[in-house]
Amino acid sequence: MKIALIAHDKKKEDMVNFTIAYERILKHHTLFATGTTGKRISNETGLRVQRFQSGPLGGDQQIGSRIADNEMDLVLFFRDPLTAQPHEPDISALMRLCDVYQIPLVTNLGGAEIMIRALDAGFFDWRNLQ
Ligand code: PGA
Repeated sequence: MKIALIAHDKKKEDMVNFTIAYERILKHHTLFATGTTGKRISNETGLRVQRFQSGPLGGDQQIGSRIADNEMDLVLFFRDPLTAQPHEPDISALMRLCDVYQIPLVTNLGGAEIMIRALDAGFFDWRNLQ
């Protein structure tokens, strides 16, 4: 599966810890990330990550474009709900496209824990039929 990983600044530590904890599962998938999130994951885990631009510089829109092209299967987005983001319109647009194309999206660690187990259990196999 093609998985997009995005974490706002105050959630990047959570994302790194999440990817370390689930490296065993994630290493079997194709990983993408916004710029800084991807850099941290690459540096701090053994995972290979394809990096887009940083979020505020268009990374969320690049991921949205992949969704519109049916080139993304899951989005794990660790949002910071307590800090204003300069690229809030891009974030909303990304989430909207997930809804348009029925792409599974979670916006916090709790959801990601469930999603990664579902991925490991084969619950995403329907995506292969798309
Ligand atoms: P970043 O982008 O990974 O480049 O920090 C994430 C974001 O802020 O949307």
